[in-house]
Amino acid sequence: MFSSVQGEGPLIGYRQIFLRLFGCNIRCDYCDTPDSLENLAPCRIESPPGSRQFACRPNPVPAGELLDILSEMNRQTRHHSLSVTGGEPLLQADFLKSFLPFVRAEKLLIYLETNGLLPDRLAHIIDLIDIVGMDIKIASSAGIPEDTADIHRRFLEISAARRVFVKIVVAGPTTEYEIRSAADLIAGVSAAIPLVLQPLTPFGRARDTASPEQLLRLQSAALERLEDVRVIPQMHKTMNVL
Ligand code: SF4
Repeated sequence: MFSSVQGEGPLIGYRQIFLRLFGCNIRCDYCDTPDSLENLAPCRIESPPGSRQFACRPNPVPAGELLDILSEMNRQTRHHSLSVTGGEPLLQADFLKSFLPFVRAEKLLIYLETNGLLPDRLAHIIDLIDIVGMDIKIASSAGIPEDTADIHRRFLEISAARRVFVKIVVAGPTTEYEIRSAADLIAGVSAAIPLVLQPLTPFGRARDTASPEQLLRLQSAALERLEDVRVIPQMHKTMNVL
């Protein structure tokens, strides 16, 4: 758990407490949080908020203790929201179901960052979420070969009860066909759902970035279907914040 500036998507710049939960149900080529893919002990808690100094506690951290830490962070620095991230945080939907009601008492908005592939678990906690940021994994950039369109569609339909946006990481191999297909999927739920095209930041095996001309071409293709399509890079990497 740490405090930083949100560096992706339409919430860029807001001060958030990040709750990074371990484990993920997929493996993207460009994953920039490989430490979150395994159940690593101990848990690392930043103190004071924004300092990059971490204290360790044994995992799992009891919910009451986690809430005390969150309250203290928010007392020291007023935050806009809690970013529930990972890994894939919905793998721990049961924990979130019991924990998030107490976060609401802190008057923090609750923002879920998710790969959008576990709709049943989302349905379990959607009433506790204020903002959903759902990724659509493009086969050519994420290295995820399966067709996940039906799962994403169901996930978006559930998310539409809340504020929601979709993010797609765009790399050199990303095609107009892939972006048009994703835009069709989103428009099938609502053409008003914002789409963020996020240029790949080279990491791990993923090195092939999109050219400026390609980004503009892909944005134009998505704008044929959707009302709000933005190209936004990862700003926390530029700012060198966590
Ligand atoms: S969904 Fe996110 S956490 Fe999981 S492998 Fe992909 S980038 Fe990493």
